[in-house]
Amino acid sequence: MRPEDILVPTPSGVCCKLGGFHIDPTRPVERALITHAHSDHARAGHGAVLATQETLDLMRLRYGENFAGTTQAIAYGESVGLDGAKVTFHPAGHVLGSAQIAVEANGLRVVASGDYKIVPDPTCAPFELVPCDVFITEATFALPVFRHGDPGGEIAKLLHSVALFPERAHLVGAYSLGKAQRVIALLRRSGYSAPIYLHGAMEKITNYYVNRGIELGELRLVRGATKQNLASTITLCPPSALNDLWTRRFPDPLAAFASGWMRVRARARQQGVALPLVISDHADWDGLTATVAATGAGEIWVTHGQEDALVHWCVSRGLKAWPLDIVGYGDEDEPNDAETVGTEQ
Ligand SMILES: [Zn+2]
Ligand SMILES: [Zn+2]
Repeated sequence: MRPEDILVPTPSGVCCKLGGFHIDPTRPVERALITHAHSDHARAGHGAVLATQETLDLMRLRYGENFAGTTQAIAYGESVGLDGAKVTFHPAGHVLGSAQIAVEANGLRVVASGDYKIVPDPTCAPFELVPCDVFITEATFALPVFRHGDPGGEIAKLLHSVALFPERAHLVGAYSLGKAQRVIALLRRSGYSAPIYLHGAMEKITNYYVNRGIELGELRLVRGATKQNLASTITLCPPSALNDLWTRRFPDPLAAFASGWMRVRARARQQGVALPLVISDHADWDGLTATVAATGAGEIWVTHGQEDALVHWCVSRGLKAWPLDIVGYGDEDEPNDAETVGTEQ
């Protein structure tokens, strides 16, 4: 049996004919296995969805009760037989509920990473290394220039700025699912105990994290706060809100943005970000290459990002590797990503 007999790339995402399912399909399919709830991986309209409880709940929050025909929850470490294939979900360390999906048949194991990071994150289960024959890896930050460094240091920069400009309001652009909650949790770990303000678009998902036992301290909605109230505070908002009329309610707002792309200073400047914070929920170059090597896989399929450099790195180490050209995966770290802010009053 060849790996392609287990999983094969199709225009709608990787497909397991043996098991009759797609992983993170970009178009509606009969049976979908979903790695995590970011909107480019988790779409509405599939017949049946198998995912972790958190991913199913987050999809329901985003798309409503009828986002799929039927749903089935699977726990980390649990295996399910789907026709000729056995599938097991393992933590990916990316956001709450995120999973890598291992697909096995005839003693051959293929692991689809989804998005992942290997550094600790107080808001989700840690990445688990799964030895495999073929590893399908994301490549969002697959260039040697991307080294994310210590997120604690970035949080210290933010707190330093807040102390330096007590009359101003600090707005931190962060993706609503995962990044925002991680930034809040990191602030709490740094000893910041003042109330943290939220843009209305982050309310539901953040409440869900709290309901799942993630400690985020006292949270308040910007809606209802006066301009004076908001001096010397920190507010989390979707990146697109940073350039919105919405910011006028804050006293002398200072724009920060938490993203792996903030390593590229020109990009931060171009986006009018005064305080770039290099905090990413994706593995950086060192994380990607270390993980690829540690899986022991002889064959690497690279998707979703800067494929060429990582393919080249793999081939130079004697691994078989090629890019999967699947259209439709976005990048939640991008400020211009299709995240609807809504019209908050
Ligand atoms: Zn993601
Ligand atoms: Zn992704």
